[in-house]
Amino acid sequence: MPAGFPSFGETARIEWRAGRIADPVERLRYLRRRMVQPKRRDFQGFGFIAVPLMIAVLAARSPTGSAETIERERGLAVPRAGSAAASMPPHVWLIEKTEAAEVYSNGLRIDRTFLTSNRPRARFPVYSLAGASVPVKYGDAPVGIVYHTTESLVPPFEEDQNHKLQRLGRNLLEVVRSERAYHFVIDRFGRVYAVVVETDAANHAGNSIWADAEGIYINLNDSFLGISFEAQTGAADAVTPAQIQAAKVLTEALRSRYQIPAENCVTHAQVSVNPLNMKVGAHTDWAGDFPFAKIGLPNNYSIPLASIYAFGFDADEVYERMVGMNFGGVALARAQIERQAEAQNTPAAQYRAILRHRYKDIETELKQNEGGN
Ligand SMILES: [Zn+2]
Repeated sequence: MPAGFPSFGETARIEWRAGRIADPVERLRYLRRRMVQPKRRDFQGFGFIAVPLMIAVLAARSPTGSAETIERERGLAVPRAGSAAASMPPHVWLIEKTEAAEVYSNGLRIDRTFLTSNRPRARFPVYSLAGASVPVKYGDAPVGIVYHTTESLVPPFEEDQNHKLQRLGRNLLEVVRSERAYHFVIDRFGRVYAVVVETDAANHAGNSIWADAEGIYINLNDSFLGISFEAQTGAADAVTPAQIQAAKVLTEALRSRYQIPAENCVTHAQVSVNPLNMKVGAHTDWAGDFPFAKIGLPNNYSIPLASIYAFGFDADEVYERMVGMNFGGVALARAQIERQAEAQNTPAAQYRAILRHRYKDIETELKQNEGGN
């Protein structure tokens, strides 16, 4: 889902529609899908939920400072995905580039007719897995990919819908371009469009967290590329075979160009967080059923979520219901918190509060830097 925000009229319509959904979990799920974050702000549109939770978080907050946090977290082992994750795809190279298109050695063709700029990619901080609120280093090239769905209207994928499919696809590309929402869009026919140039950041990830062996990345617009499938969660044919094939060759080409590890190719639902209520999954696109294997990736749903084990975020019931059983990352990260707390001889709730304190320290620092730009 792109990082836009509904207008006041839109908000009223969304609330009216939500009021007509009887099941409270389904209603929340609908609201969550419709209420998206504005650019570069933390407001989430969930004040009615966020306020009591924030009070609970603040009440549980430990008085201990960063120095102790570093001490407590030193030497923690972080489980990673299986060794298959380490394998890199074959080398892919550019064979032809014109104003209109790029063609690659693995069959990838990228349409450049909607290409636009946003803002140059900023150097991004990388934080230690072992603790501390100051970066251990900085990066300046993409280290990962976040997969999205556009959640735009999609007609049935049938020949007699061709005109409508074409028209909606074009409209979508216009919107994505005006919002600088993603680097790439894969339309229903599997055509790959470059929208935001790769040297710039796209507004795709919002508040988000991911980690690899190098460290922890926070707010991934600068550090991760955004690929969005023209798709609607819950629609009859969520993605078409042509889209999956296109995502496979696009992923191979990007991994080859930037040496992106497989474990950093993940979905928006895995990385998205809401700092107001300290819950994961503010955005839930690709919360389940992402075709990792068909795209040539290991099942990255089994990687523990760094938002949980490094910063004390947690999943709520809505998120758990959406991700279902195929998403081991939440359970593994929770188990890790328990182990870490035990190793530190600290009650789990208190340990989590220390982790949250560390996140708040980093968040404050990031906001100050942002304000100084
Ligand atoms: Zn998204």
